[in-house]
Amino acid sequence: MSINNLVVLGSGLIGGSVAKSAREAGVVNNVIVLNRQIETSDRAVALGIADIAKDYSQLAEVCGSLGQGDLVLVAVPIYSYASIFDQLADLLPAGVILTDVGSTKAEVVNAAREHWQGDLSYFVPGHPIAGSEKSGVEASDGQLFQKRRTIITPIEESAEFAINRVRDFWESLGAEVDIMDVTHHDEILAATSHLPHLLAYSLVDSLVTLDQSTEVFRYAAGGFRDFTRIAESDPVMWRDIFVANRDALLKQLENFEEHLKELHVAITDGDTQTIESILERAQAARKVFSETSPKN
Ligand code: NAD
Repeated sequence: MSINNLVVLGSGLIGGSVAKSAREAGVVNNVIVLNRQIETSDRAVALGIADIAKDYSQLAEVCGSLGQGDLVLVAVPIYSYASIFDQLADLLPAGVILTDVGSTKAEVVNAAREHWQGDLSYFVPGHPIAGSEKSGVEASDGQLFQKRRTIITPIEESAEFAINRVRDFWESLGAEVDIMDVTHHDEILAATSHLPHLLAYSLVDSLVTLDQSTEVFRYAAGGFRDFTRIAESDPVMWRDIFVANRDALLKQLENFEEHLKELHVAITDGDTQTIESILERAQAARKVFSETSPKN
């Protein structure tokens, strides 16, 4: 795998980690990062993550320098895609591949269809299943995608060449690539990522509004830490994800509420058998997960 130019729009945690991983893997000649503030891009260059720093006023110049097989990766919060697609639609030369890392895919594809009036055959949406509660270029990690899954969700128009190139790119960063339908991706991620984030935020919020919240947090220990780490994630990013994937997330939330209710009733009734069987089932499933999934 060899790419002449990789352009990263938004060198935060994920965009910065892609840039850093690509440089460390030696699969790219030139990494160009573009941010709203040139200082953010300059910082990426200073950290050794990128070769060239630009801001959005230089997007036309950057696009004009790209050619066949170059890769443009969008790595900004979901609801910022529309304006980026608007600008790119007129600027991106034919043959340049466009991909992204957005955590929900239907909203991204809708934005592309609405704001990209041209040919979408070089557009291949993607989503690395790796990340953390940290954000910003300083958190970039060149090993973030090693042995982690990346899902790519080609659309009807995506050309075979573009799909293969995006898959090869992620594999060259150490990722295991799965290809999935857009809707299926959003349903699965609602259950495995979006619902857990919602619950972590909501648990912390419900505790912080208690009268004894200071005392509650003083005595919070490992269990609280494990369960709520992800509530330190960026609120704007997760606001966008919850709304963008609203239907699939609400379906998972309703399922969760039913299960919670079952436990609530069992505890109210002192029904130890039901409580124990729910906990045993969950414990067994969690053990299988621990034994089979890569550690973060
Ligand atoms: P981040 O906050 O670290 O970086 C976001 C980047 O977007 C920054 O460079 C910021 O300057 C830029 N940005 C913010 N608002 C913008 C706007 N209105 N217009 C243009 N640029 C803007 O966030 P991140 O964690 O790197 O997330 C970026 C994308 O990656 C999101 O779409 C998210 O869904 C996806 N993602 C995140 C994770 C994770 O665990 N953090 C995992 C997989 C995918």
